[in-house]
Amino acid sequence: MPSKTKYIATTGGVISGLGKGLVSSSIGKILQSYGYDVTMVKIDPYINVDAGTMNPFEHGEVFVLEDGGEVDMDLGNYERFLNIDLTKDHNITTGKVYKAVIDKEREGDYLGKTVQIIPHVTDEIKHEIRKVARGHDICVIEVGGTVGDIESMPFLEALRQMRMEEGPENVVFVHVTLVPVLDVVGEQKTKPTQHSVQRLLESGIQPDFVVARSKKPLEEKARRKISNFCNVPEENVISDPDARISYEVPLILEKEGLGKKIAKKLNLKVGTDLRKWRYMVNRMLNPKNNVRIAMAGKYTALGDSYVSILEAVKHGALANNAKVEISWIETEDFEKDKSKLEVLDTVDGLIVPGGFGPRGVEGKILAVGYARTHKIPYLGLCYGMQMATIEFARNVCGMKGAHTTECAPRTKHPVLHILPEKYQIKQMGGTLRLGSWPCKIKKGTLAEKIYKSNLIHERHRHRYEVNPDYIEKIESKGLVFSGKHPERPLMEIAELSNHPFFIGTQYHPEFKSRPEKPSPIYAEFIKACINYKKTKRKS
Ligand code: GLN
Repeated sequence: MPSKTKYIATTGGVISGLGKGLVSSSIGKILQSYGYDVTMVKIDPYINVDAGTMNPFEHGEVFVLEDGGEVDMDLGNYERFLNIDLTKDHNITTGKVYKAVIDKEREGDYLGKTVQIIPHVTDEIKHEIRKVARGHDICVIEVGGTVGDIESMPFLEALRQMRMEEGPENVVFVHVTLVPVLDVVGEQKTKPTQHSVQRLLESGIQPDFVVARSKKPLEEKARRKISNFCNVPEENVISDPDARISYEVPLILEKEGLGKKIAKKLNLKVGTDLRKWRYMVNRMLNPKNNVRIAMAGKYTALGDSYVSILEAVKHGALANNAKVEISWIETEDFEKDKSKLEVLDTVDGLIVPGGFGPRGVEGKILAVGYARTHKIPYLGLCYGMQMATIEFARNVCGMKGAHTTECAPRTKHPVLHILPEKYQIKQMGGTLRLGSWPCKIKKGTLAEKIYKSNLIHERHRHRYEVNPDYIEKIESKGLVFSGKHPERPLMEIAELSNHPFFIGTQYHPEFKSRPEKPSPIYAEFIKACINYKKTKRKS
């Protein structure tokens, strides 16, 4: 093991959305496969203190960590690729850094000094990075945004200083850029890469590696040009063409020898390769079964808003040797025309994911009811569990107009509400229930069959809870709360016994799902979809 922590900083050039997060995760994965203890940090140069208040439409999903941190979705990639748990400290934002500096200034920590970006802000950034890196062999630091952005400058400056302080043998820079092809000439163009490396050089950072993202593998001519103009040896210009699936990226980069070359620069030993991972990717690319799942949701235009769910579905599919096709459904359509619900006859399962606010809610309730009465496998995630409870209360328990107070504050039957003061959660800051919470599972239930355990921990992000006043009535009619908090009146899982697979969770199991450790509930859901498809074909 190295005597000092080694740092790998990844920066991005030309455009955002290049897949820098995947490149960073892949580098982490490759080095982890060499036997090193790798951790990862995401720097987000925006002013928000965390991603909790950001609209998923604009910024993609808000990922939730064990400790309740609401963070950038790249941390989801890190956890999935490396199969590790991170904390909120692993997401450093401008907001967080400035807040810390300003708080210190108010407390008199800098007494007498003029507080400045250099050294006070850059010192704070370095301190935050070193804090999370401590004790690990390797720390991969992904710098969000694109070089040249005003807001990322203090972070680049801090990283430049770190290379000086830690020594060049302990810090490596990887710059990820885009190499586009102009249709008319059909040639890979390197000029944008050259310019972005120039911007990086202005910050005093010479990249050790350039990872060139392109549709097709990098041509030799382009590789030579990038090497020449960017002052990077040809063998350190890495070709990173589009992958078939994201999990293939570590294999693509390792084929280019990126891990070995980074290890050499950092005086690290090269270990065994990604044999297990390769086997997994091959299985993902060659599935035997095939199912179609309907996904109801508000941000249907943007897959990024539901990344963790889509990934967890893939992991569950992998566990069942299956390929899953997702059909996005706009539930508002059902509100206007109920006959549109028949689209659910063409799928093998339904997911109603998390959500906030009233839009499309009545349609979601209709869709859940259709899945319940037509025995279509159903997985309700957070809001989806709440919708299942409302649907059941209305249509089986006869509670007309039952609702969540989130959408109908004056409903006669508030089957979901904000818990009374004595049960409320204070330690987390806001009123959201966040992060990992324990759940006790009832014996002899589907939940027990799925988890093969009677105590689990899953991650939450919601405000409303099943109203304890209605539990007895609802359970007496057959919707069982098979998972509950061990001490508090918090309902965590709802399931139907007279249905092949109908389950809803107040938590978000997708946040803990990894390809090497699929979420059990997703795996069982996919299995149920495969079985449903088989029986449907027979009938
Ligand atoms: N809006 C619901 C609540 O706050 C569900 C949230 C979610 O699905 N994440 O309780």
